[in-house]
Amino acid sequence: MKPRMPDQQASLNILCHSNIPRRSEGLRIVDDGPLYGARLVAMRRFLRGDLILRLRGRPAVPSFRSIQVGVSSHIEGYPFSFLNHSCRPTAIVLTQQLEVRAWQELKIGQEVTFFYPSTEWEMVRPFVCLCRAPGCIRYVAGAKYLSPHLLGHYFINPHVRTLAAAALAQVAAN
Ligand SMILES: [Zn+2]
Repeated sequence: MKPRMPDQQASLNILCHSNIPRRSEGLRIVDDGPLYGARLVAMRRFLRGDLILRLRGRPAVPSFRSIQVGVSSHIEGYPFSFLNHSCRPTAIVLTQQLEVRAWQELKIGQEVTFFYPSTEWEMVRPFVCLCRAPGCIRYVAGAKYLSPHLLGHYFINPHVRTLAAAALAQVAAN
């Protein structure tokens, strides 16, 4: 659940030092220290479907803090790079609209999370998930490593579907 340490701590320190506000559009970055890292928390109530955040970022090489928004495109930026993974996420990332929307009602203080394989095909830094949600996938490495059946239980972005279909076609051809 807290995979992005310790580098995220370093990036948070950089953000603090560059005077970027820690509050943004009803959100706040909460830093739980080196062990648990930083997380993005709702500072107001969001109803299911509400726009939480727009993905305003810059093109980036894949990293632990980037989000994949197309078959071969990745972006990173503030504050969405602080979104943590959950197997029972409170939000979804819509890569075509470049939006983060509430997947369930979020109360003040609740963490904004999304399901990383919904955007990431193959992650640079896989990790073991400790979210303890029912049906936790445990090994979070990208959609490439999940079965089509399992992916069917989640909201998945079009570019990931495209990559999954291509992978299946390749298996069928061999
Ligand atoms: Zn999990």
